Amino acid sequence: MKFTTRFAPSPTGPLHLGHAYSALLAYDLAVRNSGTFLLRIEDIDQSRSRQHWEDQIYDDLTWLGLTWPRPVLRQFDRMPLYRQALNRLWSQGLLYPCTCNRKDIAAAASAPQEGFPLHGPDGVIYPGTCREKWTHQVQSAIPEDVALRLNMSEALRRIAKDATGLRFHETGAGPDGATGWIDLSDEQMLHGVGDVVLARRGMGTSYHLSVVLDDAAQNISHVVRGQDLFDATGIHVVLQRLLGGETPTYHHHPLIRDDTGKRLAKRDDARAIAKYRAEGATPEDVRAMVGL
Ligand code: GLU
Ligand code: ZN
Repeated sequence: MKFTTRFAPSPTGPLHLGHAYSALLAYDLAVRNSGTFLLRIEDIDQSRSRQHWEDQIYDDLTWLGLTWPRPVLRQFDRMPLYRQALNRLWSQGLLYPCTCNRKDIAAAASAPQEGFPLHGPDGVIYPGTCREKWTHQVQSAIPEDVALRLNMSEALRRIAKDATGLRFHETGAGPDGATGWIDLSDEQMLHGVGDVVLARRGMGTSYHLSVVLDDAAQNISHVVRGQDLFDATGIHVVLQRLLGGETPTYHHHPLIRDDTGKRLAKRDDARAIAKYRAEGATPEDVRAMVGL
């Protein structure tokens, strides 16, 4: 498979040094491997996405010296495809509606199973309240305007596992330094991840579902992204097996932190690329600041 990677920002704020690092690293890897660097706009959260942030992304990345093929894939244009995948999982009995709010979940999850964490990649691990209530009827139409969760235990049962089981290849490292082949046990997926939301209420999809379908549609061979998403990769591998996509190679990179050691967030306008540009920094200065 030809080396293809992507940078996939959400247009919900200014790009900062952490984004610059991720985009430049992916771009450099593509160049070094005579591959392709793609840009994807992850705008499924329409309540927070803004056209001017999208325009600023194009402007900042161009200024950094990056180029990419056009047209750019925008996730919101692909809502019908996400819906199709949800319908497929629904008709296989792998999803169920969840009406819990954050408080319900926190209350029910306050006594986690011994030896397992309270928090997974998506926050508090879902205690399964609605799964136990739900009796699936194959004929029933997929409910609208409600969150849909993946029944992880059922999903694991359906996935045909070869001798190697569920795994992905990591060429960077997880937060704990894990690298090479990362094996995902059923235990870990059940108790350390659980029944994740695949369609958010009022959104009709989720980061996990969209990212997996789009990486497959764009033939991404190498996913380069921050270590904060390392733990979510197991969810993506499960979805690739359920929906029939290949598992790409993953390269998780350390996060750029501020002087106090805190990772940069969207609201850290102080580290915005646009701010450094306005102050007269060059793209080479930005590369140096992130250690490239
Ligand atoms: N859109 C995600 C973000 O802004 C990136 C997702 C990914 O690279 O898988 O953090
Ligand atoms: Zn629920």
